Amino acid sequence: MIEIGHFISNNVIAGTSGQSKDVFNPSTGEVSGRVSLASVDEVDVAVAAAKAAWPAWSKTPALRRARILDKFKSILWDRLDELAQVVSNEHGKTFDDAQGEVTRGLEVVEFATGIPHLIKGEFSENVGTGVDSHMVRQALGVVAGITPFNFPTMVPMWMFPVALATGNTFILKPSERDPSAPILIAQWLKEAGLPDGVFNVVNGDKVAVDALLEHPDVKAISFVGSTPIAQYIHQKGTANGKRVQALGGAKNHMLIMQDADLDMAANALMGAAFGSAGERCMAISVAVPVTDAVADALIAKLVPKIKALKVGPSLTPGMEMGPLVTGEHLQKVTSYIDQGVQEGAELVVDGRDLTKPDGHENGYFIGGSLFDNATTDMTIYKEEIFGPVLTVVRTKSYAEAVEVIHGHEYANGVSIFTRDGDTARSFSQDIEVGMVGINVPIPVPMAFYSFGGWKNSLFGDHHMHGMEGVRFYTKMKTTTSRWPTGVRNDAQFSMPTLG
Ligand code: NAD
Repeated sequence: MIEIGHFISNNVIAGTSGQSKDVFNPSTGEVSGRVSLASVDEVDVAVAAAKAAWPAWSKTPALRRARILDKFKSILWDRLDELAQVVSNEHGKTFDDAQGEVTRGLEVVEFATGIPHLIKGEFSENVGTGVDSHMVRQALGVVAGITPFNFPTMVPMWMFPVALATGNTFILKPSERDPSAPILIAQWLKEAGLPDGVFNVVNGDKVAVDALLEHPDVKAISFVGSTPIAQYIHQKGTANGKRVQALGGAKNHMLIMQDADLDMAANALMGAAFGSAGERCMAISVAVPVTDAVADALIAKLVPKIKALKVGPSLTPGMEMGPLVTGEHLQKVTSYIDQGVQEGAELVVDGRDLTKPDGHENGYFIGGSLFDNATTDMTIYKEEIFGPVLTVVRTKSYAEAVEVIHGHEYANGVSIFTRDGDTARSFSQDIEVGMVGINVPIPVPMAFYSFGGWKNSLFGDHHMHGMEGVRFYTKMKTTTSRWPTGVRNDAQFSMPTLG
């Protein structure tokens, strides 16, 4: 069993609060480690380290900062499998899926290595006679990232590469459910040449989060997690004068039109609903076929595929779905299925029937489930289940399907399957959701675009990574300058205008 502490000033540090939590291997149900939960004092130590490192780091030439990130990127490529294995062991996602997660995070590192270009300012000469103006983007100072269990490497990498590249120092508070990967990342950043205190990891729970939200030296908070906590982080962080971007939960719909390629749509749904056991914020959890004929044909294609899903230990080759992250989460997903049945949805495939893999009877496995004839007032429709449960809401027309989507409180991702350009174009233009896919089931923007939803899926004004990330982690400063030679230097009492 491993002990997981913190990483402060380029050192792995054991926790001193006396508080800790078990970490599980979801494939076996065994306790694989214990993670320390930081006290307020331990958070203070990390913030002090990051604050001390900030002046030198923010003045380090952007190109030098980029080269350290470039070195880190090479380390990540070389050791991608090692990191993916650590992710699979604590999260439960399959090894291939974990490799994909690390790669998508690595792409943000790649983006951030372009920082000398991305952070270029503006300059205008002679904005007035003999007067020049320039604008630069400066780092905020110490910034913090609070991240969820479902992407223990990718979501931190949505944040820190851009934060560090722009000259901030960083404190990461990872999920307490899979805390090992972030510590490994911190060690590799050190190996790449990152100076002491520039990147720190503090493990913990609400105590550590509140300490970061209240600390006067923390200038900005990036959060990704469930909506109630995102809302709390946004309210408390902004009340304390911090810049906050808080990404919340999701219920992503896929609209399937009559002219869609139904084999393509069914295969897309399989990956999007059941990949990573549905524990993705961009998972499709609701299928919205237009007309009963489309619904019947789609369900006929889905049922055998769901029944044939290969569910097993995360590191067993060939598995399509691993276990859920914890026993507690398995219980939660199971009770949503119970509730769906009680509320009258038709359970066409029941994942609770799964026979657990041999030798892994205590793992947190569940099969894929499919509900048909769900209605928008049902709990399984309204709430985020975050498990391998696909719910079908039948509609009679495109307009009704759009109305269903617009009625939901979440608006993270959405997709439409159609061959009709007009329909696809109107959908993309009019749908009130942050990320849209056209015949693409999980429309996660690439690193050089920005990630974020609308409505109760995001609190704050900035999406993550891409240019939005650069804007979030910097503030603008405009300097207006004049030199004495050849200009009037008498006192002027009226508002200066073009002179
Ligand atoms: P979570 O909200 O339980 O936890 C997220 C983080 O908040 C963790 O670091 C956790 O320690 C901390 N936290 C938990 N309770 C807290 C409290 N009461 N006070 C302060 N901090 C607290 O989320 P999770 O279960 O780890 O992750 C799954 C959720 O994340 C899902 O809702 C999913 O949709 C969402 N998510 C959203 C996105 C997105 O981009 N919108 C991406 C990934 C995950």
